[in-house]
Amino acid sequence: MRKIIQLCLSLVVACAGVAVAAAPAHADGCYTWGRTLSQGMNGEDVRQLQIRVSGYPGHGAVLGLDGDFGPATKAAVTRFQQAYGLPADGVAGGQTFTKIYQLQDDDCTPVNFAYSELNRCNSTWAGGAVPAATAKANALVSMWKLQAMRHALGDSSIRVTSGFRSVSCNNAAGGASNSRHLYGDGVDLGSGPHSLCKLAQQARNHGFNGILGPGYPGHGDHTHVDHRSSRFWSASSCGI
Ligand SMILES: [Zn+2]
Repeated sequence: MRKIIQLCLSLVVACAGVAVAAAPAHADGCYTWGRTLSQGMNGEDVRQLQIRVSGYPGHGAVLGLDGDFGPATKAAVTRFQQAYGLPADGVAGGQTFTKIYQLQDDDCTPVNFAYSELNRCNSTWAGGAVPAATAKANALVSMWKLQAMRHALGDSSIRVTSGFRSVSCNNAAGGASNSRHLYGDGVDLGSGPHSLCKLAQQARNHGFNGILGPGYPGHGDHTHVDHRSSRFWSASSCGI
């Protein structure tokens, strides 16, 4: 009898181990959605969804992060679903959330980007043009846009060379006095698997109102993206 119990216990342990390994990467440490979301709904859960699909607004568009699930949010969810081969109905349910859980770390950043990459200036996010929490939240949105762009470019890496800057870090870097780096959403990208022009061109599809690249003064060695309030794109050497 004791032997049988021991066998059963070891089987339970073995089975539990398999179940844990096979379970989808569920980042409860960040955020868990509790209901299916569709057009006409609103709330903080919609806003959390909007952040995750902010890189799918369509060419030249920017998705509002207002917590209201309107037609633009439906279209962004549909593009996200298409990008990952999910049934594309614009309704965020189990499959969509499972994919988002797979794509996010416990601190809510997308798996291929990190807060530490977006802030090499200080550890507090303070000293910029907005409160630290705002700068950090803005950087998070930029990361989700970059994650969408990275996937669209075949999942090869995107190299971040500069992100948030305090006023003193921005001055040291020679940044413009109204630089979006002071707001946390400005990100400089270096060449790597993708050329600077490829990055600037692709960024047009992923919710970046600001794009500066080769041909724009001071941008011969990086492509800058941000989410300023109205569109300014300039990278004349790239046809932008
Ligand atoms: Zn920049």
